[in-house]
Amino acid sequence: MEHYKVVKKIGVGTYGSACLACLKRDPSQLFVLKKVKVDEDNDKERHQAEMEVTVLSKLDHPLVLRYIDHFMYKGHLCIITEYCEAGDLYGWLRSLKTAPPEGQVLDWLVQVTMAVQYVHANNILHRDLKTQNIFLTHDGCIRLGDFGISRPLKGAMDLASTLVGTPYYMSPEVMSSQPYNFKSDMWSLGCCLYEMMSLKHAFDASDMNSLVLKIMRGQHLPISQQFSPELRDLTKQLLNKNPKQRPSPDALLKLPWLKEYVARAH
Ligand code: ADP
Ligand code: MG
Repeated sequence: MEHYKVVKKIGVGTYGSACLACLKRDPSQLFVLKKVKVDEDNDKERHQAEMEVTVLSKLDHPLVLRYIDHFMYKGHLCIITEYCEAGDLYGWLRSLKTAPPEGQVLDWLVQVTMAVQYVHANNILHRDLKTQNIFLTHDGCIRLGDFGISRPLKGAMDLASTLVGTPYYMSPEVMSSQPYNFKSDMWSLGCCLYEMMSLKHAFDASDMNSLVLKIMRGQHLPISQQFSPELRDLTKQLLNKNPKQRPSPDALLKLPWLKEYVARAH
């Protein structure tokens, strides 16, 4: 903590806490400091923690949360990243009273898909794609972050099969202990897209058994009629029980109606 000073705590996640921090020599420069407690005698845990840093530090894309620095401090692995002033998409959606307009949803969708496309092109699965891990900048751009449990793949065919993820966004194949694959991230993207339109989870239940059942059946709540048939259809394709039927980021970004929208908006 030689160069940074903690300003305030901004979030608690699954693997540690996130604080707003500034540069000691220039307090106007803000960053996020993520602290992950590491048992230094536990090799496996240290390795796991270092994994996030390794993954994050290799990525360089305007829509992926920018990695700045990392260091050990008092038994914690500290990771410095860029700060997204508008917080996470989950919080943003929960603060809305009505669904955002279609243009806004398409804008977010295209940005998140481009970030996922880049990550996948680097042979990395995100594995924890959810609205709490999509951050927003002051000018409304998204940054994909929190690669805590992502893991580089040796090759496209080498499927990592460890069961990880948040149940709300977990795909049917992962629920039934099949290997996590690139299309599992696309299911989670479908869940995020559903949430952008409905302001609630695509699959929800009061207990774990019912949630698992709903996901296994692909039984999501209806999508609001205020959105175009194309967008509603795309959501259904992403939430297809068969991973092969879900579009890849490339295929999604090539959809003519979506390309037309992007061309008109810019
Ligand atoms: P975890 O692995 O603990 O889930 P996250 O990186 O997702 O860690 O951080 C937890 C929460 O802290 C996020 O959901 C978000 O609300 C906030 N947060 C984390 N990083 C940033 C950032 N760069 N900009 C703004 N808010 C952030
Ligand atoms: Mg998180």
